[in-house]
Amino acid sequence: MGLPARIVFASGNRGKLREVSRLLGDFGVEVVPQSEFGVGEVPETGTTFLANSFIKSRHAAAVTGLPAIADDSGLAVDFLDGAPGVYSARYSGPGATDETNIDKLLAALAEVPDGERAAAFHCMATFVDPATGAELFGEGRWDGCILTARQGSGGFGYDPVFFDPVAGKAAAEFTAEENNTASHRGKALRALVAALAGHYAGRCRRTASRLPSTCTCPGACRSARTA
Ligand code: IMP
Repeated sequence: MGLPARIVFASGNRGKLREVSRLLGDFGVEVVPQSEFGVGEVPETGTTFLANSFIKSRHAAAVTGLPAIADDSGLAVDFLDGAPGVYSARYSGPGATDETNIDKLLAALAEVPDGERAAAFHCMATFVDPATGAELFGEGRWDGCILTARQGSGGFGYDPVFFDPVAGKAAAEFTAEENNTASHRGKALRALVAALAGHYAGRCRRTASRLPSTCTCPGACRSARTA
């Protein structure tokens, strides 16, 4: 397996960094937060999760010159035609917090009956390698519905009002491990890692070339290949 030895993670979120590091650590990849390279946040001006995720991974890759991973996620509510969607973090306007966002969501759905409260968390995880131009992504979703009041004390964001009918509890009642298995983010990251493993299988670790005969890496290509 010839995955890059180091990948930059375009987020300052410690929990996400731990999860990505654990997944990629199995492939011998070191995941480094973009803050260690002095990379700051970039405006998320896209209208889809995929676009915003690529804005972040391309930015980190361009600034550092290293392969980079990013993710972008949010909540889509059927009755609200997919809102808050990419605007999940800022749903209740300037100065939005998890609490004000949930208050606005509960108010928007106040008159909506149980059967029409379906929603899903979505996540797009993306990867960009500036050396080869490779761009890959993994997608994940978590289906459920919106409760009429908060339930549970864990998690973050909309977790207290997101009910998973399979587990029979709110996202805010999941353990961290249960969350990694069920969540849109865990699924997207695992799908991205699988795509990366497939993309880099058998490639030279230095140049990503698949053919030892044409590889331009210094020294014998075979020694640079890890699979
Ligand atoms: P980000 O992609 O991590 O920036 O997430 C954007 C926003 O979507 C967050 O601020 C939350 O409001 C919401 N969100 C994304 N994932 C989750 C989740 O797993 N639980 C609760 N809220 C989430």
